[in-house]
Amino acid sequence: MAPTNFASPRRLIAWAMGPCVPAWSVLLVLGGTGRLSWTEALVSSAVVFVFMALLVFTRLADFDLMIDYAERMLADPDAPPPQLNRSATARRLLAAITALRKLWAERRDEAGALAKSRQNILDSLPDPLFILDNRRRIVSTNGAARELFETERTAGPLVGRDLAGIIRDPKVLEAADGALVQTKKAEAEFTLPSPVERTFLAAVVPLSSSVHDGRAALVLLHDQTERLKMDQMRADFVANASHELRTPLASVLGFTETLLGPAKDDPEAQAKFLPIMLTQAERMKRLIDDLLSLSRIELHEHTRPTEAVDVMPTLRNVIELIEKQGADNKPVIRVTAAPDAPKAVADINELYQVFFNLLGNAVKYGGEKGVDVEVALSQTRPKDMPGRGACLKIAVRDYGEGIPREHLARLTERFYRVDNARSRQLGGTGLGLAIVKHITIRHRGVLTIESEIGKGSTFAVFLPVPA
Ligand code: ADP
Repeated sequence: MAPTNFASPRRLIAWAMGPCVPAWSVLLVLGGTGRLSWTEALVSSAVVFVFMALLVFTRLADFDLMIDYAERMLADPDAPPPQLNRSATARRLLAAITALRKLWAERRDEAGALAKSRQNILDSLPDPLFILDNRRRIVSTNGAARELFETERTAGPLVGRDLAGIIRDPKVLEAADGALVQTKKAEAEFTLPSPVERTFLAAVVPLSSSVHDGRAALVLLHDQTERLKMDQMRADFVANASHELRTPLASVLGFTETLLGPAKDDPEAQAKFLPIMLTQAERMKRLIDDLLSLSRIELHEHTRPTEAVDVMPTLRNVIELIEKQGADNKPVIRVTAAPDAPKAVADINELYQVFFNLLGNAVKYGGEKGVDVEVALSQTRPKDMPGRGACLKIAVRDYGEGIPREHLARLTERFYRVDNARSRQLGGTGLGLAIVKHITIRHRGVLTIESEIGKGSTFAVFLPVPA
């Protein structure tokens, strides 16, 4: 709006008439008592009015412009100031109002910046949160809360809605009411069923507020899904490990008791039972060794190996060891190493375990057609492998029965086996592929598994190469 530089004439006339009233009263009395003729009284009244009007127009018009300015400022804080005419006092007033207005603008900007930085802080928190007013309505949220709840299901923005429209769990609502009414801290666990079931812990904290009746509350949600899953996995792992150990242990104990008791002097029973006891003890040892390996690898999984190593000597050592072990009719292991196969950034001891487990499985489950090992430079990385550029591929291929598709994703879970009885009979612990997977994770590499029923399986490890 353009600055106003004229005042309302009607208001100015009204202002000029006010101070004329005492003089006009005196002239009326003088006219009435005959001391002045009516003509003189009227002319004097007109002269008084003209003087007053002049005074008002020259002095008070500026104040009228100021009133107009103040009214415009109420509607528009950035309204332009008027151009004043003569009044020095009005000019001082305008200067004071202008300074005040600048101060307000600064305060307004400060308050805006403060609110913005508070929102940024809330948005940077990874956990969803809500601030509720005294009527349990959401007055503020953060990015995590919007991401979690502003879905098609909740239809639209969260601010202004009752918490019950977002979280229907009665325990959470009771905790929120407790915080708002009795200013009590509380926690409640609840589950969100979709899109994927997730469990949250809601911590509700009363807040003192200068608005909303002095009552407000903060609701902070903490995702418990991962922790609960980990707890479950840990419990399953302990149960599985105990079960795996208990079976051979029970067998060793049983035979020991027999040999110490009824078969004490029975050489035939001794000859029959002692080898079984040895096999079971070896099974326990393998299991304990694998469990220890796994926990050692997990312990330093976050520190990646740094040495550049040639994988071929380790691979040959493992092949030699496997060929020496057990039966004579072992399938042949053929190795094809590309001449340009680079070194890998790896830990030799862990590489040894990877080769031992993959080749051991290929020999165990792969049938008589032998095993092919391919060592080559791969120009592309599998999709889950971190980083960019070429890497080293070591693929172990067998020509066995293959693995049904539904098992592939779970093969690297601890104690997961396609056929429990067969694995145990072949001396498997069910931990080999879990060990391989954790070693490749530590190396920032990946393990891929491909299998075709009736044709065989390929387990390939991709490892980073030196820069
Ligand atoms: P295990 O000690 O039982 O061999 P692993 O963790 O090494 O345990 O392997 C898990 C399961 O994966 C095995 O029990 C077996 O069912 C399956 N498996 C692993 N390697 C092969 C393979 N080369 N061919 C077919 N199945 C395999």
